[in-house]
Amino acid sequence: MGKVALITGASRGIGKAIALKFANEGYDIAINYIGNPDEALEVQKECQAFGVQAIIHEGDVTDYEAMDEMMKTVLEKLGSIDVLVNNSGITKDQLLLKMNTQSFMDVIDVNLKGTFNAIKAVSRIMMKQRSGVIINMASVIGIIGNVGQANYAASKAGVIALTKSVAKELAPRHIRANAIAPGFIATKMTDVLSDDTKTAILNNIPLQHMGEPEDVANVVYFLASDQAKYITGQVINVDGGMVM
Ligand code: NAP
Repeated sequence: MGKVALITGASRGIGKAIALKFANEGYDIAINYIGNPDEALEVQKECQAFGVQAIIHEGDVTDYEAMDEMMKTVLEKLGSIDVLVNNSGITKDQLLLKMNTQSFMDVIDVNLKGTFNAIKAVSRIMMKQRSGVIINMASVIGIIGNVGQANYAASKAGVIALTKSVAKELAPRHIRANAIAPGFIATKMTDVLSDDTKTAILNNIPLQHMGEPEDVANVVYFLASDQAKYITGQVINVDGGMVM
């Protein structure tokens, strides 16, 4: 059996690009999603076209039991979990005075608690294997903050701190954990921004254009590979120079 990569939120956007990159490199793929089975099935087909095994698994990252069950299913069907990419994420942007507690907690639940749940559920398997790589999707917003994104910024800053703690805790078991902080990447998540907001963001990007999901996927693949075997607990920005 080949190596296995499990990617949460892989039905579209950055997660889809990561799934396709790993499939293209010969990994068997587990595609997690929550509400879009048709898109997940399409990603599965595209992965299988590279001649690898690919399975889809519906599961809410906010639910620990669901994550635990997902890990067991992937292990049973594909034989190991060598790479976990915690990519699922949501935004619920609102200025502070208009942001209610529910919107704040919803974003923390998916982005931060979801990442913790999946890491905790996979850690037993990786510890037993005495190998594994965990890559968490943070954001430059978790480093610099942003107007209207108090919930999102807090969740992604949490993901960065979580990554460093996990990296320290699991290093003796030969498990690496790193985070990626994308800048402004063209997906459904950024489609919803107004043209004015997009122009304002682009003015702050030295490379003067949005990134593509593949720009992030390539770095995820590098971090998962043996080329990065001495890198753990780091945050790598993929942002066209937005934050430096
Ligand atoms: P996207 O196109 O909106 O896709 C989000 C993915 O997350 C979808 O596959 C969705 O599944 C899944 N998801 C949402 N809630 C979930 C839950 N509770 N359980 C499991 N899966 C769930 O987003 P994206 O732009 O590709 O972003 C991917 C990651 O990169 C996120 O963590 C995001 O915060 C981060 N990021 C993005 C940008 C950017 O500019 N796009 C910048 C920095 C960081 P369904 O399709 O089934 O709903």
